[in-house]
Amino acid sequence: MDIDFLIIGAGIAGLSAAVELSALGHVLVLEGEDAPGYHASGRSAALFDGNYGAAPVVALSEASLPELQAAGGLLSERGIMFVAAAHQAVEFAGLVSDHQLQVLNFEQAARRVPLLKPGAVAFAGYTDQAWDMDTDLMLQGYARVLRAAGGRVECRQQVNAITRVAEGWLVRTVSGAEYRARNIVNAAGAWADQLAVMAGIKPIGITPMRRSMARIPAPGGLDVKSWPMVVAVDMSFYCKPDAGSLIVSPAEEDLVEPHDAWADDMVLAEGLARYEEMVTEPVTRLESSWAGLRSFAPDEVLVLGPSLQDERFVWAAGQGGYGFQTAPASARLIADLVAGRVPELAPDMVRALSAERFG
Ligand SMILES: Cc1cc2nc3c(=O)[nH]c(=O)nc-3n(C[C@H](O)[C@H](O)[C@H](O)COP(=O)(O)OP(=O)(O)OC[C@H]3O[C@@H](n4cnc5c(N)ncnc54)[C@H](O)[C@@H]3O)c2cc1C
Repeated sequence: MDIDFLIIGAGIAGLSAAVELSALGHVLVLEGEDAPGYHASGRSAALFDGNYGAAPVVALSEASLPELQAAGGLLSERGIMFVAAAHQAVEFAGLVSDHQLQVLNFEQAARRVPLLKPGAVAFAGYTDQAWDMDTDLMLQGYARVLRAAGGRVECRQQVNAITRVAEGWLVRTVSGAEYRARNIVNAAGAWADQLAVMAGIKPIGITPMRRSMARIPAPGGLDVKSWPMVVAVDMSFYCKPDAGSLIVSPAEEDLVEPHDAWADDMVLAEGLARYEEMVTEPVTRLESSWAGLRSFAPDEVLVLGPSLQDERFVWAAGQGGYGFQTAPASARLIADLVAGRVPELAPDMVRALSAERFG
């Protein structure tokens, strides 16, 4: 067996784990699509928000930030502004303390985002502790480092059979190729549970949730470049500058089967209507739209490390809406657990991120 780690899925989870594991042995990444990053990893909002998610997610984001900052060119200034209507005072106050927001009056908020509608936006709070991420550069960077370390990515290799053999696994793909590997890493995103079942491993309950996105021309011809991301306090929409345009999401979490997701027209229209209630310019045209699947474990925390059932089956799943901002520390944790090293995160966090918590 010349493959130590066969990683299934070339999204951000698979590629980042591949880089860390390549220090421990020979790595091969199999991807069913024509290119890495075709599914969730090619469709994200590309933001780093260190406050996002449950405590173990926040711990991973915090542990990832120094590496992302040190890489140079991956992060750029963005910030987030949460906005709320008059009847949302209680939710707004909660967010201000959770996210340590600077409270802005309407004039201050409108100076940052001249699109906000007076009367509709009653509360606004801002933090500069959020950054745009260059997710393409990140995927390409991991792929390049992997190649330099002797690892490979093979695309158009859709895994359709996994058998446990004496020293590891025999993996077959739709094209008829066969691979023997000591360990499998399940980085199959929305398909993570299906892949586990294929290998005879108990599924965790990873559920894909669709989230749609529309790109619209810069409203009123305004220069949007320096605007922060604007997020409705009830998560009924968010919008963010993107290459001179604005991307607007209805921020839906619609439970779906794993598939090649596309934006739901009705969901998009309803989300854009909620956005329009808070801004002065109506949406007159869409430049494009898309959707991606955010895949969550039942407790919305990532699942990282060996399975209790078979330590040669390693989970890298449940990245939800934070797969990029948590990738560096997630990949290090997986490699630490596989190598038997003491992880950098506190033991209670490691346990909360482990596959063991599901028995
Ligand atoms: C609209 C949206 C906004 C988001 N915003 C952010 C954000 O601002 N910040 C952030 O950090 N995260 C964000 N995310 C989340 C982030 O995109 C995901 O957490 C991350 O991309 C998940 O990466 P992954 O590698 O697990 O999954 P994927 O990128 O889906 O990769 C899994 C891969 O496995 C392959 N695969 C599956 N089954 C097989 C098989 N049997 N054989 C071979 N290959 C297989 C698939 O083809 C796929 O390429 C967002 C997601 C969405 C959808």
